[in-house]
Amino acid sequence: MITKSLYQEVILDHNRNPRNYGSLDNANRSAEGHNPLCGDHLNIKINLSENLIIDSITFQGESCAICKASASMMTANVKGKTQADAETMIKEFRDMTVGKLEPDDDHHLGRLTVFVGVRDLPTRVKCAILPWHTLQAALNSVTTISTEADDDPMHVSIGNAS
Ligand code: ZN
Repeated sequence: MITKSLYQEVILDHNRNPRNYGSLDNANRSAEGHNPLCGDHLNIKINLSENLIIDSITFQGESCAICKASASMMTANVKGKTQADAETMIKEFRDMTVGKLEPDDDHHLGRLTVFVGVRDLPTRVKCAILPWHTLQAALNSVTTISTEADDDPMHVSIGNAS
């Protein structure tokens, strides 16, 4: 059961003390993500090993609390995982925020299920999902994405949440 207070506690904790915040010297993948509706702007850098494991990942940028907490938790959760595992989590996170996956279903999201609450706040879905879009772009060597771009591969499934 996800309580509102747990959600608030996690968001506050990750805002006060964001994990993996900063730059990454040896990055071999990176992408920038924009969410013009809120003004969120993120830069994600990854060091992907030869056997496709996310050895290190960092994020930087200006964003609202939900976006920052989502980015912080995302980096902590995908670090050390394979690219394929990270892509599974990207899909699961997106499905959860749009109501296609329930926290009680089988998934690999762990405490990231606290973000299930954004479902009820349509304008916040894009804030929560921006870091995941940007991670997907970086893993696929796409350098810039926007939640409002027509060619954003995730745009269609999210729809006009606003
Ligand atoms: Zn935002």
